[in-house]
Amino acid sequence: MTDSSIRVRFAPSPTGHLHLGGARTALFNYLFARHHKGTFVLRIEDTDRERSTKESIQAIFDGLQWLSIDWDEGPFYQSERLNKYNEISRLLLESGKAYRCYCTPQDLEARRQEAISKGLPPKYDGRCRLRSDNPPDPFVIRFKNTEVSEIIVPDLIRGPMSFNGNLLDDWVLVRSDGYPTYNFAVVVDDVDMRISHVIRGDDHINNTPRQISLFQALGAPLPKFAHIPMIHGADRAKLSKRHGATSVMAYKDMGYLPHALVNYIARLGWSHKDQEVFTRDELITFFDLDKVGSSPAVFNMEKLLWLNAQYIKGTPSPELADLVKPFLKTIQSPIDYLSSDSPPGLAQIVEVWKSRSRTLLELAESVHPFLDKEFPYSEHVLSMYLTKQAIPLLQSFASRFKEIQDWNKPSLEEAIHETGKEFGLKLSQLAQPLRAALTGQHVSPGIYDVILLLGRREVNHRIQKAISMAGGHT
Ligand code: GLU
Repeated sequence: MTDSSIRVRFAPSPTGHLHLGGARTALFNYLFARHHKGTFVLRIEDTDRERSTKESIQAIFDGLQWLSIDWDEGPFYQSERLNKYNEISRLLLESGKAYRCYCTPQDLEARRQEAISKGLPPKYDGRCRLRSDNPPDPFVIRFKNTEVSEIIVPDLIRGPMSFNGNLLDDWVLVRSDGYPTYNFAVVVDDVDMRISHVIRGDDHINNTPRQISLFQALGAPLPKFAHIPMIHGADRAKLSKRHGATSVMAYKDMGYLPHALVNYIARLGWSHKDQEVFTRDELITFFDLDKVGSSPAVFNMEKLLWLNAQYIKGTPSPELADLVKPFLKTIQSPIDYLSSDSPPGLAQIVEVWKSRSRTLLELAESVHPFLDKEFPYSEHVLSMYLTKQAIPLLQSFASRFKEIQDWNKPSLEEAIHETGKEFGLKLSQLAQPLRAALTGQHVSPGIYDVILLLGRREVNHRIQKAISMAGGHT
């Protein structure tokens, strides 16, 4: 059931990637629509013909689809709505609320400089307002601004904001090439699409007074405005490339789960008590604009990583196995699990690793030694654990493991215990060199999980290899 009075839109300009700020604007609109059982419209603002590209439009769809942010109406393309903008500009011309301006860019620039030199605001001086001729020269269409000393922008997040109306001039609605300006097309569309709430980044605040005066000139009801504060980096500067990746799809490539990213960006500026992890349904239930703060949100990579780790841990292993596949490195020499009694599937390997991996990329790295005989040994492992002193210990493991009849945890525990007694070492001291030999890493899941997953044949093979790498003879 929809409440037809609530209608919101995401209106990206397709001039680059879908970045985190854009995704958050889309998400807030989506959550607001879903929460209020309203309608979410997607509108592609592609009237900037030089900067809009097909690839960027595709990037918007890809990003929204990956984040499962779906819309109800659209996509509408502004480039396909030129007739609508023409119709409205004609109405404004006919009713005397707009006029043709024939001033050339050179004239405008000269007059701008003159105003600046006199200490006046460099705004259009209205020279063509009273022109009644209609020469065959290029023209723009300007809005006949009614000067008021103050324009109030009501805002659901910041409260009412006051703007000096004297600074507004007769701004351009339609360029000389017949294309609408951003402020004109946005208002025409917001009216035509019956948008009830304009939820967008606060970098648009300065456009809002102009837009409000146009709504009024068109006799259209004002939507409610909600300007969401910017996202900042830890240094309090606006989030940019130097703070890390800003494109949504870069997070996909880095091994983030879409729901973790959605959960994270939902919390950039919005909160619900001190809850950090939300299901989609919870986000929809709890989201509303009154809980969106008015100060900039700070992007914190560590928190995103933490959240991603929670989502990885919570994903069923078979599903995780599918997700990690694209991240797996090429396998040079597959382990011949077929010869063992019960070869582990990827889901089983993932199961023992998932609580230790913060991204799918990390998970893929960890899983690799369980799929490939050719896995790397870290420098740390080589210098700390695969040393000459480790050789007798590894040899002892090898011979005790050989004697095991049933390859299961109790028999392995006993064998390792015996080796411990022989060398006077505790389990923790024994596990490290064994882990190093078996995985090339100094951290891994429980050593028994590792041994059982790899199976007798591969464990033996790896211990022998480690002994020879440590300088011993097998
Ligand atoms: N097209 C504008 C942008 O991408 C947004 C317009 C709006 O939300 O009013 O920044």
